[in-house]
Amino acid sequence: MKRRIKLGLDFDGVVAYNPFRLVRAPWAYFKRRILKVRKLTFFYPKNNLEKYIWKILHDSSILPANGTEILEELVTGKSVEAHLITGRYRFLNNHLYNFLDKYEMRNIFKSINFNKRDIQPHIFKEELIRKLGIEVFVEDNWDIVEYLSDKKRKYPNKVKIFWIYNLIDRYREYKYKYPYLEKALREIIKIYGYPISK
Ligand SMILES: [Mg+2]
Repeated sequence: MKRRIKLGLDFDGVVAYNPFRLVRAPWAYFKRRILKVRKLTFFYPKNNLEKYIWKILHDSSILPANGTEILEELVTGKSVEAHLITGRYRFLNNHLYNFLDKYEMRNIFKSINFNKRDIQPHIFKEELIRKLGIEVFVEDNWDIVEYLSDKKRKYPNKVKIFWIYNLIDRYREYKYKYPYLEKALREIIKIYGYPISK
Protein backbone atom coordinates (compact mmCIF):
# COMPACT_ATOMS: atom_id res chain seq x y z
CA MET A 1 0.00 0.00 0.00
CA LYS A 2 1.14 3.51 -0.80
CA ARG A 3 2.09 5.78 2.04
CA ARG A 4 -0.40 8.49 2.89
CA ILE A 5 1.13 11.95 2.74
CA LYS A 6 0.23 14.98 4.81
CA LEU A 7 -0.89 17.68 2.46
CA GLY A 8 -1.35 21.27 3.58
CA LEU A 9 -3.45 23.67 1.55
CA ASP A 10 -3.87 27.39 1.65
CA PHE A 11 -7.48 28.52 1.19
CA ASP A 12 -7.65 31.72 -0.90
CA GLY A 13 -6.26 31.15 -4.36
CA VAL A 14 -5.65 27.42 -3.76
CA VAL A 15 -8.81 25.63 -2.55
CA ALA A 16 -10.99 28.61 -3.46
CA TYR A 17 -10.67 30.45 -6.70
CA ASN A 18 -10.97 34.20 -6.28
CA PRO A 19 -10.80 37.06 -8.75
CA PHE A 20 -9.23 39.02 -5.91
CA ARG A 21 -5.89 37.48 -6.85
CA LEU A 22 -5.89 39.55 -10.00
CA VAL A 23 -6.16 42.68 -7.90
CA ARG A 24 -3.45 41.65 -5.52
CA ALA A 25 -0.85 40.65 -8.10
CA PRO A 26 -0.22 44.13 -9.53
CA TRP A 27 -0.17 45.54 -5.99
CA ALA A 28 2.54 43.06 -4.93
CA TYR A 29 4.50 43.92 -8.06
CA PHE A 30 4.16 47.64 -7.41
CA LYS A 31 5.33 47.24 -3.83
CA ARG A 32 8.36 45.19 -4.80
CA ARG A 33 9.53 47.00 -7.91
CA ILE A 34 8.47 50.59 -7.45
CA LEU A 35 8.35 51.11 -3.72
CA LYS A 36 11.22 48.63 -3.21
CA VAL A 37 9.48 47.17 -0.20
CA ARG A 38 11.35 44.02 0.66
CA LYS A 39 10.14 43.38 4.14
CA LEU A 40 7.57 40.62 4.24
CA THR A 41 4.58 42.16 5.95
CA PHE A 42 0.93 41.91 5.09
CA PHE A 43 -1.79 44.45 5.34
CA TYR A 44 -4.06 44.06 8.32
CA PRO A 45 -7.36 45.96 8.25
CA LYS A 46 -7.53 48.10 11.37
CA ASN A 47 -10.86 49.90 11.44
CA ASN A 48 -14.39 48.79 10.55
CA LEU A 49 -14.36 50.34 7.10
CA GLU A 50 -11.14 48.58 6.15
CA LYS A 51 -12.50 45.31 7.54
CA TYR A 52 -15.70 45.79 5.57
CA ILE A 53 -13.78 46.31 2.31
CA TRP A 54 -11.53 43.37 3.09
CA LYS A 55 -14.61 41.18 3.64
CA ILE A 56 -16.16 42.19 0.33
CA LEU A 57 -12.92 41.41 -1.47
CA HIS A 58 -12.78 37.99 0.18
CA ASP A 59 -16.47 37.29 -0.33
CA SER A 60 -15.76 37.34 -4.03
CA SER A 61 -13.70 34.18 -3.54
CA ILE A 62 -16.76 31.99 -3.83
CA LEU A 63 -15.85 29.20 -6.21
CA PRO A 64 -14.09 25.94 -5.41
CA ALA A 65 -10.84 25.79 -7.37
CA ASN A 66 -10.39 23.49 -10.32
CA GLY A 67 -9.14 20.26 -8.71
CA THR A 68 -11.20 20.05 -5.51
CA GLU A 69 -12.90 16.88 -6.83
CA ILE A 70 -9.54 15.18 -7.28
CA LEU A 71 -8.59 16.34 -3.81
CA GLU A 72 -11.68 14.63 -2.44
CA GLU A 73 -10.84 11.45 -4.32
CA LEU A 74 -7.29 11.43 -2.94
CA VAL A 75 -8.66 11.86 0.59
CA THR A 76 -11.33 9.17 0.15
CA GLY A 77 -8.76 6.80 -1.33
CA LYS A 78 -6.55 7.43 1.72
CA SER A 79 -3.68 8.70 -0.43
CA VAL A 80 -3.68 12.08 1.21
CA GLU A 81 -4.45 13.53 4.62
CA ALA A 82 -5.53 17.10 3.87
CA HIS A 83 -5.14 20.04 6.24
CA LEU A 84 -6.49 23.46 5.50
CA ILE A 85 -4.12 26.17 6.69
CA THR A 86 -5.38 29.65 6.07
CA GLY A 87 -3.68 32.88 6.94
CA ARG A 88 -7.10 34.55 6.93
CA TYR A 89 -7.62 36.81 9.85
CA ARG A 90 -10.02 35.86 12.60
CA PHE A 91 -12.90 38.09 11.54
CA LEU A 92 -13.32 36.05 8.33
CA ASN A 93 -13.90 32.66 10.03
CA ASN A 94 -17.63 32.45 9.43
CA HIS A 95 -17.34 33.15 5.77
CA LEU A 96 -14.86 30.30 5.33
CA TYR A 97 -17.09 27.78 7.11
CA ASN A 98 -20.09 28.94 5.05
CA PHE A 99 -18.11 28.34 1.89
CA LEU A 100 -17.00 24.84 2.98
CA ASP A 101 -20.53 23.85 3.97
CA LYS A 102 -22.09 25.28 0.83
CA TYR A 103 -19.87 23.08 -1.33
CA GLU A 104 -19.85 20.14 1.14
CA MET A 105 -16.12 20.35 1.52
CA ARG A 106 -15.70 20.51 5.28
CA ASN A 107 -15.16 16.76 5.66
CA ILE A 108 -12.34 16.66 3.14
CA PHE A 109 -10.07 18.21 5.72
CA LYS A 110 -8.68 16.41 8.73
CA SER A 111 -8.08 19.80 10.30
CA ILE A 112 -9.06 23.39 9.52
CA ASN A 113 -6.56 25.87 10.87
CA PHE A 114 -7.23 29.56 11.26
CA ASN A 115 -4.91 32.33 12.05
CA LYS A 116 -6.64 32.83 15.41
CA ARG A 117 -4.01 35.10 16.93
CA ASP A 118 -3.94 37.27 13.79
CA ILE A 119 -0.19 36.92 13.41
CA GLN A 120 1.56 37.44 10.06
CA PRO A 121 0.31 34.76 7.62
CA HIS A 122 3.75 33.43 6.62
CA ILE A 123 4.76 32.94 10.26
CA PHE A 124 1.47 31.22 11.00
CA LYS A 125 1.90 28.84 8.05
CA GLU A 126 5.48 28.04 8.97
CA GLU A 127 4.36 27.14 12.50
CA LEU A 128 1.53 24.93 11.25
CA ILE A 129 3.67 23.07 8.70
CA ARG A 130 5.98 22.21 11.57
CA LYS A 131 3.26 21.35 14.08
CA LEU A 132 1.23 19.12 11.73
CA GLY A 133 4.23 17.53 10.01
CA ILE A 134 3.07 18.70 6.58
CA GLU A 135 5.05 17.17 3.68
CA VAL A 136 3.62 19.12 0.76
CA PHE A 137 2.17 22.59 1.18
CA VAL A 138 0.29 24.36 -1.62
CA GLU A 139 0.35 28.17 -1.57
CA ASP A 140 -0.46 30.87 -4.13
CA ASN A 141 1.33 33.87 -2.68
CA TRP A 142 4.86 34.05 -4.08
CA ASP A 143 6.26 36.00 -1.12
CA ILE A 144 5.01 33.29 1.22
CA VAL A 145 6.31 30.51 -1.06
CA GLU A 146 9.70 32.17 -1.12
CA TYR A 147 9.71 32.49 2.66
CA LEU A 148 8.53 28.93 3.39
CA SER A 149 10.86 27.29 0.87
CA ASP A 150 13.93 29.14 2.12
CA LYS A 151 16.68 26.77 3.26
CA LYS A 152 16.89 28.69 6.51
CA ARG A 153 13.56 27.21 7.59
CA LYS A 154 14.27 24.11 9.58
CA TYR A 155 11.46 21.59 9.30
CA PRO A 156 11.43 18.24 11.14
CA ASN A 157 10.82 16.41 7.83
CA LYS A 158 11.27 17.21 4.15
CA VAL A 159 8.73 19.74 2.98
CA LYS A 160 7.93 20.62 -0.61
CA ILE A 161 6.29 23.99 -1.15
CA PHE A 162 4.08 23.96 -4.24
CA TRP A 163 3.27 27.28 -5.82
CA ILE A 164 0.04 28.21 -7.65
CA TYR A 165 1.23 31.07 -9.83
CA ASN A 166 -0.70 33.98 -11.29
CA LEU A 167 -0.56 35.90 -14.55
CA ILE A 168 2.06 38.39 -13.50
CA ASP A 169 4.44 36.02 -11.75
CA ARG A 170 4.15 33.20 -14.25
CA TYR A 171 7.66 33.54 -15.74
CA ARG A 172 9.39 33.25 -12.42
CA GLU A 173 11.63 30.19 -12.20
CA TYR A 174 10.54 27.73 -9.55
CA LYS A 175 10.72 23.97 -9.34
CA TYR A 176 7.17 23.30 -8.17
CA LYS A 177 4.92 25.78 -9.98
CA TYR A 178 1.39 25.13 -11.25
CA PRO A 179 -1.39 27.25 -12.76
CA TYR A 180 -4.12 25.83 -10.47
CA LEU A 181 -4.84 23.15 -7.86
CA GLU A 182 -5.59 20.29 -10.25
CA LYS A 183 -2.15 20.54 -11.86
CA ALA A 184 -0.49 20.57 -8.44
CA LEU A 185 -2.44 17.48 -7.37
CA ARG A 186 -1.57 15.66 -10.60
CA GLU A 187 2.08 16.26 -9.79
CA ILE A 188 1.56 14.77 -6.32
CA ILE A 189 -0.17 11.76 -7.93
CA LYS A 190 2.82 11.36 -10.24
CA ILE A 191 5.50 11.77 -7.56
CA TYR A 192 3.87 9.42 -5.06
CA GLY A 193 2.26 7.03 -7.56
CA TYR A 194 -1.31 7.24 -6.30
CA PRO A 195 -4.16 5.55 -8.13
CA ILE A 196 -6.78 7.91 -9.55
CA SER A 197 -9.93 7.25 -11.61
CA LYS A 198 -9.33 9.85 -14.34
MG1 LIG B 1 -3.63 32.37 -0.72
